[in-house]
Amino acid sequence: MGKITGFMEFKRQDEGYLEPGARVKNYKEFVLHLSDPQAKVQAARCMDCGIPFCNSGCPVNNIIPDWNDLVFHGNYRAALENLHSTNNFPEFTGRVCPAPCESACTLGIISDPVGIKSIEHKIIDTGWEHGWVVPQPPEKLTGKKVAIIGSGPAGLAAAQQLARVGHAVTVFEKSDRIGGLLRYGIPDFKMEKTHIDLRVKQMEAEGVTFRTSVLVGKDFPATVNNWAKETIFPEDLEKDFDAIIMAGGAEQPRDLPVPGRELKGVHFAMDFLPLQNKVNAGDKLKDQIKASGKNVVVIGGGDTGSDCVGTSNRHGALSVAQFELMPQPPEQENKPLVWPYWPTKLRTSSSHEEGCERDWAVATKRFEGKGGKVDKLIACRVEWKDGKMIEVPNSEFEMKADLVLLAMGFVSPVQQVLDAFGVEKDARGNAKATTDGDGCYATSVPKVFVAGDMRRGQSLVVWAIREGRQCARAVDEFLMGESVLPR
Ligand SMILES: Cc1cc2nc3c(=O)[nH]c(=O)nc-3n(C[C@H](O)[C@H](O)[C@H](O)COP(=O)(O)OP(=O)(O)OC[C@H]3O[C@@H](n4cnc5c(N)ncnc54)[C@H](O)[C@@H]3O)c2cc1C
Ligand code: SF4
Repeated sequence: MGKITGFMEFKRQDEGYLEPGARVKNYKEFVLHLSDPQAKVQAARCMDCGIPFCNSGCPVNNIIPDWNDLVFHGNYRAALENLHSTNNFPEFTGRVCPAPCESACTLGIISDPVGIKSIEHKIIDTGWEHGWVVPQPPEKLTGKKVAIIGSGPAGLAAAQQLARVGHAVTVFEKSDRIGGLLRYGIPDFKMEKTHIDLRVKQMEAEGVTFRTSVLVGKDFPATVNNWAKETIFPEDLEKDFDAIIMAGGAEQPRDLPVPGRELKGVHFAMDFLPLQNKVNAGDKLKDQIKASGKNVVVIGGGDTGSDCVGTSNRHGALSVAQFELMPQPPEQENKPLVWPYWPTKLRTSSSHEEGCERDWAVATKRFEGKGGKVDKLIACRVEWKDGKMIEVPNSEFEMKADLVLLAMGFVSPVQQVLDAFGVEKDARGNAKATTDGDGCYATSVPKVFVAGDMRRGQSLVVWAIREGRQCARAVDEFLMGESVLPR
């Protein structure tokens, strides 16, 4: 513990942001990480609790009190080693994790929680700046071959773990670049893509082979982004590899089947966001969906919706509104009731601060337009009674809308991929596998494993990393009879 009285002496200081006016001019990251003295003070707020709830609140079980102490003493190299022992990619989580660890922080009961995510961000950026993040190739090879389908955080974490214990890992990705939703989905202003490129280089030096623009499966639906140029059938992978991990994410978007859905200008969020990622990467696109000069309505109050808001403002939208079906949550949670769990409360993202009219308990009834193009949205107010949604009488209203972005979450993985392998599914259409005990992460098909959103449904980067790591251990045990990889 850095300073016994730190939690009483020092206030929480969040990372700084560039002003909204400055940051919406481009797609660059705008979070200014803590200076060395600021990080020392923030680390000093950690009470090194006997039972550190943050450690179990964090899905990868980061050993938070230990690295807070190391940061307080200026020992960043040891802090980085500690952080990497539980998390392959802290530069991803240090930027985009919603930080459930902070909701679990004991100090949060009586004060603001320790700024855990900002300290994590500081440690890993310091590591990269000093050249401490280097490849860790295996001492010897096992001669076993593992195929991983999907290069999101789950696939990447599994690939890195397995390569480091000597397996020959090939990652197959249907997109033209590696990274899953980290690359195509999460906007560059939340996480610049050079962070993925650096990890890909590191992993190549550790022995991982990446094959992009390759779709594994067949009969892929046209509604899901697919820039693949080559298709490999599951049976060919099964022949050539000793184990397969499916880490293809939960890509089936939830639709809004109301009248007018077919009008031009009504799009899924994931038809919109990845195109901007591509343009930022230097691609020339003929038909990018743009919000410039338009009245934009984002349907869905979550993170994907908020990313649409931030991107629309950067395009130069005329107006941006965001609707949510559920009622507005309270501004402050009831801490004694919810701690140490993730509370439902009003969250205002940096994208909302950049300009957005938000509205809750609103249901969209139909879209209307002229010449086949949407120009307005008809909605009504709703109330929730006994878990049922009821329309408020005479509450119908209309709103100008030249671009409607549907960001209502994802229902499941693309079923055709699971069907191509013939794996058993759970009630929600995810690939079925347990996460502990014998046979964990194994699907019903021999030597085929599953991790990340494809198993748990739409979730978070940090959960995908956890599943990728744990699945890697399960695969290593399956191949070798034992494993030194962490659980
Ligand atoms: C817009 C958006 C913003 C988000 N923001 C955040 C955030 O800020 N913080 C956070 O923690 N989480 C966020 N999430 C959620 C997070 O990105 C996901 O939970 C996480 O990326 C899941 O990781 P994954 O590896 O399981 O799958 P994914 O990241 O979805 O990666 C799956 C990969 O598999 C590939 N693939 C699928 N099928 C095949 C196939 N048959 N053959 C070859 N390749 C295939 C896909 O192309 C994709 O690249 C966001 C999600 C979205 C959509
Ligand atoms: S990965 Fe997320 S939950 Fe874990 S310590 Fe970092 S911010 Fe907290």
